[in-house]
Amino acid sequence: MNRDGKHIVVLGAAESGIGAAVLAKVKGLTVFVSDAGEIKASVKAELVSYGIEFEENGHTPERVLSADLVVKSPGIPESVKIIQEIRALGIQVVSEIEFAKPFSKGKTICITGSNGKTTTTLWIYHILKKAGFNVGLAGNVGQSYAKQVALNDFEWYVLELSSFQLDDMHSFKADIAVLTNISPDHLDRYNYQMERYVASKFRVLQNMTGEDFFIYNADDAVISAWLEKHPVKACMAPFSSTEPLDFGGYIQNEQLIINIKTTTTMSIHELALKGKHNAQNALAAGIAARLLDIRTELVRESLMDFENVEHRLEFVAKVNGVEFINDSKATNINSAWYALESMEHPTVWIVGGVDKGNDYSELEALVKSKVKAIVCLGLDNSKIIEAFADHVEQIVETKSANEAVLAAFQLAKKNETVLLSPACASFDLFKSYEDRGNQFKQAVRSL
Ligand code: ADP
Repeated sequence: MNRDGKHIVVLGAAESGIGAAVLAKVKGLTVFVSDAGEIKASVKAELVSYGIEFEENGHTPERVLSADLVVKSPGIPESVKIIQEIRALGIQVVSEIEFAKPFSKGKTICITGSNGKTTTTLWIYHILKKAGFNVGLAGNVGQSYAKQVALNDFEWYVLELSSFQLDDMHSFKADIAVLTNISPDHLDRYNYQMERYVASKFRVLQNMTGEDFFIYNADDAVISAWLEKHPVKACMAPFSSTEPLDFGGYIQNEQLIINIKTTTTMSIHELALKGKHNAQNALAAGIAARLLDIRTELVRESLMDFENVEHRLEFVAKVNGVEFINDSKATNINSAWYALESMEHPTVWIVGGVDKGNDYSELEALVKSKVKAIVCLGLDNSKIIEAFADHVEQIVETKSANEAVLAAFQLAKKNETVLLSPACASFDLFKSYEDRGNQFKQAVRSL
């Protein structure tokens, strides 16, 4: 795309938007930032320092609709009035990543999927850093990609991409793409149509050639079904928890085995993160590293010494023999499934919040075998109560992290576990999943 002389409008003054605006400015384009809400004082100061014009608390249609190109924050849904007006006029809309890519010389490793994106992204970044790569971390984590491209372009980027970002990417091409898994999530943003959400995830493969690599979960039925119908140009490097693979990675007899050029082997018990899902994330990260010819020994070492990410099956404390685990980032059924699956002791499960179209029956068997009591933490808990009332000894409703922790502590006995793994978004009672996790940890620490 020729961007010369273009007038860029950036919608949304969050991390990605600011980055895109800075990049546009540094590259000599005219740029205007518009936000429906209030812009943080520190962000305004930054915009002023770059001489970037902006507005807040609403969009002025004449200013926004005069754009040649709109860079849209992934958080803004299609249903918003200004987006519909932009679309009606046929103005091109791109994500920050799409906008910035042509300005960068760096290659990209792009991670998408329903769950495990952040963990896998950080794990790959960790390995590359340890191997001495000149590498940036961006997308949904770290600093804005566009801003790094503007101020300090790297040779490599590890990018976590959500389906919302992928929706506004068209000519972007990844050098290595990773698809962790696909299960229903965010269906509210896709008209409750699973096919649209799946198609959105597979956009990560667009424009790839035979020189690029696609790392994916071969055990995932949704991914396999899609691959049967759609040919992929990139070289396939699958991973599996069950099937041996000649080119890719798998688990056999509790060994993690990666066959890329040579064989890398280690015990799954040596992995830095526990649980079946993290063994899958480790396979994906290890394959990416081996595709980049990182030494086998260094790959093994980095799979062992990676540090856990906050709010993901994070051990908080043991109080009177009761273990507390914070998995606040589990905002859908699949991630809560893996959390429950990895529980080794009778569990009091704290669940609830804003339901994005959950089918709780998928958790029924695990709840029967692992969960002794449920503490609901949400405004509307009716679906949870209906699904599980007959399967656990007790269900109580709470409306704050403090209340939930106190109730769970009363229900749990020595050598049992209290797990916060809500399977829901947090916005009914909290600012974000981080806020929910932090309040939970705070409450545990004040027991
Ligand atoms: P994402 O960035 O895709 O939301 P995270 O790495 O932040 O993924 O993890 C989100 C939640 O999903 C956490 O509860 C975590 O324990 C769980 N999880 C991590 N990896 C996987 C995986 N491969 N499959 C299923 N759940 C996972």
